[in-house]
Amino acid sequence: MIARLRDWLRRRKASRIAVSDEEWARVEARLPFLDHLPAADRSGLRKLALQFLAEKQMSGARGLSLNPQMQLCIALQACLPILQLGLDWYRGWVGIVVYPGDFVIPRQEMDESGIVHEFDDAVLGEAWLGGPVLLSWFEDNLDAGGINVVIHEFAHKLDMLNGSADGLPPLHQDMSKAAWVDAFGRAFEDFGQRVAESESSGEELALDPYAAEAPAEFFAVMSEAFFEAPSLLLLEYPEVYAQLRRFYRQDPANRSG
Ligand SMILES: [Zn+2]
Repeated sequence: MIARLRDWLRRRKASRIAVSDEEWARVEARLPFLDHLPAADRSGLRKLALQFLAEKQMSGARGLSLNPQMQLCIALQACLPILQLGLDWYRGWVGIVVYPGDFVIPRQEMDESGIVHEFDDAVLGEAWLGGPVLLSWFEDNLDAGGINVVIHEFAHKLDMLNGSADGLPPLHQDMSKAAWVDAFGRAFEDFGQRVAESESSGEELALDPYAAEAPAEFFAVMSEAFFEAPSLLLLEYPEVYAQLRRFYRQDPANRSG
């Protein structure tokens, strides 16, 4: 009953945001990876994006003023992973902070002798456990060859639903944790070797080498590829693709369109 009431409230709040078809089309034109969604899913994604905007608080940082198109653009991308899962998968936090371009996060690290080092880390995004999502906004070049900052950070949010990001989000009942760990573990190891080899040979990898940093990054980068370059991921790591297909309940490599 409470869930039904919440759904109703969400729909009511979302219905107060008016977006014309032209506006949607203009925003979606920047997101070519949505082209393959069947018509029913495209309208489902629009509805979900409005509920997302009604429920979350998006704010610009460092003087960035967020216009409605930017907010719609971020919401559509953020909602693509949860299109078949529902907005509850983004529960427990509300804030999305958007920075102009890449931004710098001041860090502190204590070394073995107890000295605290401070340094600035240039990042494109960050997801905080139980806290906001930080994103960078680039006016151009949203679709940069399978890299998608928004999907990346929101995949971390899904991963954090069961604690710190470790590359293992809460799986559905019909999924096997052993199969997930096996598929991701072997692919992560293989990719780590390929990144090491590419560093000495100078060979360009099709998937973002940042995935080799940690299992959590591997899951986030594979999720970007799953939605933005699904055929590539299916070719490179079919077992990872199969696990993500079951997790996201979508099959982007086999859509007609
Ligand atoms: Zn990350």
